[in-house]
Amino acid sequence: MEEILETATDGLDAAALFSAGTGLTFDDLIFLPGYIDFSWSDVRLETHLTRNIRIKRPIVSSPMDTVTETQMAITLALLGGIGILHYNNTIEEQVAMVRKVKRYENGFITDPIVLSPLHTIQDVDRIKESHGFSGIPITEDGSLNTRLVGIVTNRDTDFEKDRTRPLSEVMSTDLVTAPVGSSLSEANKILRGSKRGKLPVIDAEGRLVALVARRDLLKNLNFPDSSKDLSKQLLCGAAVSTRDEDRDRVDALVEAGVNVMVVDAAQGHSIYQQRMVSYIKGKHPSVDVIAGNVVTQQQAETLIHAGADALRVGMGPGSICITQNMMAVGRSQATAVYRTAAFARRYGVPVIADGGINGIGPMAKALALGASAVMVGNLLAGTHEAPGDYFYENGMRVKRYRGMASLEAMAQGGAKRYLTESTEPVKVPQGVSGTVVDKGSLVDYLPYLMKGLQQALQDMGYRDLPSVHEALRDGRLRLERRTPSSTAEGSVHSLVSYETPRFGIR
Ligand code: GDP
Ligand code: 5GP
Repeated sequence: MEEILETATDGLDAAALFSAGTGLTFDDLIFLPGYIDFSWSDVRLETHLTRNIRIKRPIVSSPMDTVTETQMAITLALLGGIGILHYNNTIEEQVAMVRKVKRYENGFITDPIVLSPLHTIQDVDRIKESHGFSGIPITEDGSLNTRLVGIVTNRDTDFEKDRTRPLSEVMSTDLVTAPVGSSLSEANKILRGSKRGKLPVIDAEGRLVALVARRDLLKNLNFPDSSKDLSKQLLCGAAVSTRDEDRDRVDALVEAGVNVMVVDAAQGHSIYQQRMVSYIKGKHPSVDVIAGNVVTQQQAETLIHAGADALRVGMGPGSICITQNMMAVGRSQATAVYRTAAFARRYGVPVIADGGINGIGPMAKALALGASAVMVGNLLAGTHEAPGDYFYENGMRVKRYRGMASLEAMAQGGAKRYLTESTEPVKVPQGVSGTVVDKGSLVDYLPYLMKGLQQALQDMGYRDLPSVHEALRDGRLRLERRTPSSTAEGSVHSLVSYETPRFGIR
């Protein structure tokens, strides 16, 4: 015990390190190791994304058009994080993405798509095409107001050549159903026993009230840590700008079932942002709002008072970002995260470190400095689940990744984040467009990142994020400033050549 106390007084506490008035970033500092009396697999990564939303993995994908669309949002939520759908599109396009994420997995499907006996197999084909499923309950008049008379599944239609046949001729009428009022676990039990793909839930008059899908039992089994709401649908976030005209977008996204909204602005300390946050919280109190971006305590205070449920922190650290060079404004990211998180904590508002998280090390540092989650763009941009196709560049398989304030993205509306119009003739970019290397599927990559993070927290000596944050506050978490040569020493050196591991060296 004596020895442990001695090492605890080595190095500096965070308050002392950050009091010197120099902006520090992740590479400028290093944590001193703590004491390990547990396995890395005991480390829990569960966290508060916002005041009201908890997720199992502290990772959020950035609302950028080369990072987060439907596939990213679904897969990341299945794996325990959450995706924020970008808004460089029409309201209809963004709403369609939210609906797809929310419909992907369910407990009770309370608004199932139904058809009538007079519809044809072609109608089922169309639903399969647009929604991705083909198990359709059949009611007397094709609405939820009349009795359930059958169900059509792919087993009824697969080998049918004549797609114009009415469903009355092919549907199964030998139904296994559950009575209204059944709990989800009772319904799941009946479903497992029935060996069918779907379980209709009906009321005393035989009307369809809900549907339960066997596929959802499997999804639950395969992805036990997924981020879900109370109705067992995946959590979904979406970004909006600070402009008044985006209030229609907000309303439409809420109607589609979005759980959390990011008010996206590069400099969040503005009257426009205050108004947008107040609008969302006033009209839709059940939706949590992540406001930002901020890097100072004053900015944080304004947005917390406007009603923010979490803050997004970072101005300039993004890999595609040129704001600090172009605008002369911003802050080094480690300092920004530490300062804003220390302040926001007093109000119980979590902070999300956004930008510059290019591997496990920076991720662990951002979280240990007080962030409750990290937001990443570059890190996930080259995965299969990111939008865009792969192509080859200098012999490497790559995908496009671009800043939302790059000239390319601004031409498509991305400028809203930077308080300018995409139609303005003179554009000053605050980002660049480029490429990132293929990282394979998120399904393999995310577990790798999370295991690395567990091991990093283990080396610091903590079993979960709340205990690291507590140690950060009371000074038990010790750290030190690094010189450029110590950073070089801590990186690969003195080799003629070496093999980079599959997912990089951070
Ligand atoms: P199917 O056999 O082609 O219907 O598809 P699966 O049963 O394999 O998958 C259906 C998936 O779509 C499940 O995860 C459902 O939760 C989801 N889903 C969402 N809305 C609906 C709906 O209205 N009807 C059906 N059948 N599935 C839905
Ligand atoms: P990365 O993960 O690539 O290091 O950083 C992603 C973050 O950079 C985004 O979440 C967003 O905050 C920020 N960002 C996205 N596009 C731009 C841009 O064009 N310019 C600037 N300044 N920041 C951007």
